[in-house]
Amino acid sequence: MEGLVKDLYALAEAARENAYAPYSGFKVGAALLTKDGKVYTGVNVENASFGATLCAERAAFAKAVSEGKREFAAIAVAAGSEKEAIPCGICRQFMYELAPEIVVITGTDKDLLNTAKLEDLLPLGFRL
Ligand SMILES: [Zn+2]
Repeated sequence: MEGLVKDLYALAEAARENAYAPYSGFKVGAALLTKDGKVYTGVNVENASFGATLCAERAAFAKAVSEGKREFAAIAVAAGSEKEAIPCGICRQFMYELAPEIVVITGTDKDLLNTAKLEDLLPLGFRL
């Protein structure tokens, strides 16, 4: 599991290169692992209308869901060595819809990572 966690984080960190963050300068990458072993990356995509900005986690989920994926094991989120990128509230709820038990990997260095269950980051997530 530890090697997998580091590998997923490395993919998230590499994805950051494609982040579109002209307003904040805060580039984020995500790497989402499906239960059948595929990885989908995502980046934050900012917008001049700030509320339209898409976070890296949701970008990765949108790609995977668009490809028919519905079962997810883990997601790594990377924002460089200075700041740990913890998923925002919207992303927590977004992920909860499809993967309430997903493991969330964050950190600032592949040797210093934190893992948490989404259900601990978002207790009592909303469901219809
Ligand atoms: Zn978010």
